[in-house]
Parts: sequence; structure tokens; C-alpha cells
Amino acid sequence: MSTILPNTIAAGQAVAAGPASGAVMGASDARKGLFPDTPAGQRIKSAVLMPIGTLVGALGCSDAMTLTFDDGPDPEVTPKVLDVLARHGAKATFFVLTDHARARQPLLRRLLDEGHEVGLHFDRHDRITDLPRGVAYRRIKQAKRDLAELVGHPISLFRPPYGSQNYATFFIARLLNLEVIGWTRQAEDWIEQTAESSAGRATKDLRGGDIVLLHDGLELTPQEVRPTLDRAEVTDLVLAEATRRGLKGVTVSQLLARRTPQRSHWFR
Ligand SMILES: [Zn+2]
Repeated sequence: MSTILPNTIAAGQAVAAGPASGAVMGASDARKGLFPDTPAGQRIKSAVLMPIGTLVGALGCSDAMTLTFDDGPDPEVTPKVLDVLARHGAKATFFVLTDHARARQPLLRRLLDEGHEVGLHFDRHDRITDLPRGVAYRRIKQAKRDLAELVGHPISLFRPPYGSQNYATFFIARLLNLEVIGWTRQAEDWIEQTAESSAGRATKDLRGGDIVLLHDGLELTPQEVRPTLDRAEVTDLVLAEATRRGLKGVTVSQLLARRTPQRSHWFR
């Protein structure tokens, strides 16, 4: 797991989504032939012309931040994390693995019933940039469809395992109408340390609009050793510090609905 944070750029610096002047209109006209007037052509057009960049937070937000939990649902940790979230009156977004979600449907149902949001992590915890493009496309498409069936509504948020993506996988996500979600803070909860230390890493410069990476599940490589820290306690400490800073916990969609998306050039 990389600990390198992305260089963030403001949404305004991202590639413009559409023509804003006469000069750009010319470029738009020139692009017309590139996108046939068919459903597939229009899907490609919207994927190409949307602002480039992974969503990592929200700009101009002073009163809310988002906790995100990856790799679950987990039969031991997820219920404890849900208890902590309820105690703090916070909502969060869970990027689940569909294999886990299918096997643990009561947990998936509980987190939905309690007002949390579900995004797609993948089917299993494979690095999608290592997969042939066709395989990555088919597996993400199938996982998105499977998760939509499990939760009963369409899925629009995607966080690739390890946050790993290249231009090809980013474009694949766009083609599948998925918004790729990164993060601005991380608890590094895959490293052996105390809960206080882990929460401290996440909250050191925590501010409104941040997206924090945490784990309820924790998929490790064969070389990694499972840390003993209590991830529900990390969640509790992060939320307590957020409250001290006047920030409430909301889902990714709630964070982005009212604020300017913050995008980052995130390819690794
Ligand atoms: Zn993961």
C-alpha cells in the first residue's frame, strides 16, 4: 500500500468539460466526428469530455468530511464500526468487495439501513492495473452489476484496490459511469501501531471537505502481517477529533452534492 498522497489540483484546473468560448467551440466542432450519434458513441463522448481527475474531496466545505471504509464488509469489524458511527451520528461510505458483500448480505443490509453509502471496491482485492484491459473492463462491469443487484440500486462510486489506476483503468471506470474516488487523508491502519497513532495520522491536518481512508475489512498481501490495532477505536478517535474541529461525518455523495469537487491527477 503506497503512502504517497497525490498532488491535488482544484477542479477549475482540470480539463474543461465543454466549450466556453468561440475558439473552443471550433475545437468542439472538430470533435463531432469522433463521437457517433449512438448510445455507445455518446457514452464514449461523456467519458472523454468529463473533467479529468480522481475525486479526492470537496472544496469550500467547512463543516463536513467523509470517512470511507475499504475491503469489507467484515464480520468482526464492520458491526463495531457501525456502532461507533451510530454513536457519533455520522454517515460514511463503504467501498466493498462484491465477493464479501455477497457472502455477508445481512451486514450489507445493516449498513444501508443505517443510512450509509456503498461504493464498489472490486470483486476481489486485485490490482486492476496488473490486469489486461479487457479483463479489467469485464470484471469491473460485472462487479458493478452484481453490487447493484445486492444493494437494489445503481452504483456510481468506485475506488480501485490500492487506489491503483492508470489512464486505461480510469477511462474504463468512466465508460462504466463510475466516478473514481480517492482520498486526502489516511490512517495507515494497515501498519502495526496504536489506535491513537493511526487516528493521529488521519486527523493531523484534517479539515472540511477531506475524504479519509480507513478499513473495516483489511485485505493483505501474503507478505504483510495483520496489525493488531482496533479499527473501530480508530474510527471513534477520528470522529471525536472531527467533532472537535466542527466537522460532521457525511457520505461521499453528501459531501460532493453541495460542494465543488476537488480533483487530483492520480495515476500510480
Ligand atoms: Zn482495498
